[in-house]
Amino acid sequence: MDGKIYIAYGKDAKEMTLSLLERANIKDRIPKGARIALKPNLVVAKPAAEGATTHTGILEALIEYLYQHGHRQIAIMESAWVGERTERAFDLCGYNKLSEKYGVPLYDLKKDRTIDIDTPIGKMSVARRVTEVDYLINLPVLKGHCQTRMTCALKNLKGCLPDREKRRFHGLGLHRPIAALAAALKPALTIVDSICGDLNFEEGGTPIQTNRILLGEDMVQLDAYGCHLMGIDVHAVEYIPLAEKYGAGKMEFREGDIIQINRPGLTEEYTRASGLVRRLIRNVQQRDACSPCFGNLVHALYRLEQEGTSFTGPIAIGQGWQGKAFNGIGIGRCCDGAAKQLAGCPPSAEDIKRALLAGK
Ligand code: SF4
Repeated sequence: MDGKIYIAYGKDAKEMTLSLLERANIKDRIPKGARIALKPNLVVAKPAAEGATTHTGILEALIEYLYQHGHRQIAIMESAWVGERTERAFDLCGYNKLSEKYGVPLYDLKKDRTIDIDTPIGKMSVARRVTEVDYLINLPVLKGHCQTRMTCALKNLKGCLPDREKRRFHGLGLHRPIAALAAALKPALTIVDSICGDLNFEEGGTPIQTNRILLGEDMVQLDAYGCHLMGIDVHAVEYIPLAEKYGAGKMEFREGDIIQINRPGLTEEYTRASGLVRRLIRNVQQRDACSPCFGNLVHALYRLEQEGTSFTGPIAIGQGWQGKAFNGIGIGRCCDGAAKQLAGCPPSAEDIKRALLAGK
């Protein structure tokens, strides 16, 4: 795949994931007879629509694809955060039904035997089962995090640890051990659920609809690109440059590395948006905006506020603005009649932030 990130837009996680797997021709990259593990993010027992956990449609697509290409040794593995029972998360997030439907076993890694592995910062205790697979598929959610700002591929691997090691990670300041664990485990493939990841907390509650899924092999690159989409300075998320330093991957991505396999679609209306989101979008005039475009704008406005600044002028976004005059800043290529325009389809939150700061 040569450092490429594939992106699919849509509302059907299963269909989008299948398209990504086909497009990236993943079947040719999996060794024959491989023992395959799917590692979702089930940090808490909340449905995926809350913005914290991995949509089951992604796993459905993967299992069907793997079966179709002759792979039968598949398992789903996870360990919820300290204080949550993984079995409760399996049940509430729809994984028990998934397991029954496809005959794929679920493993609660909290209950697994552990093994000490070597990492760039010393020994770490991980669930033994994770070390016994040939092809590890990481299935994180791209979302905000109250301590590390964002969480995606690298941090999702913390769910391969027993609870006592998770606690030790916090004592070590999180960043170094997250980066070191990622360098030691290095999953073969990562599929990022960016359908409705949370704006600011890993446990969900403020999901922002962006209706996209990303696929790539380099977790560090995916996390760096995730920062770009969310309007976060990658160097402010200490564990990402550290992971590069420890050999987990490369942060760099160029325009040609990003392959959008289809076009974005219209957004849900933000009628059910939380008070925080309603406040952030108070100056936004939305007319038929696509979800990734609108979601990226919400992220940009939130990051600006977090950084102690804001943009108070009028903002236009959406396909309904095509060819129409607007006396303010227009976000995306559709707003071609705006007094100031940020092109892109969809523009990232990082680019939106920069444009809003320049337009102040
Ligand atoms: S620029 Fe227009 S078409 Fe492109 S994502 Fe934004 S709203 Fe959709």
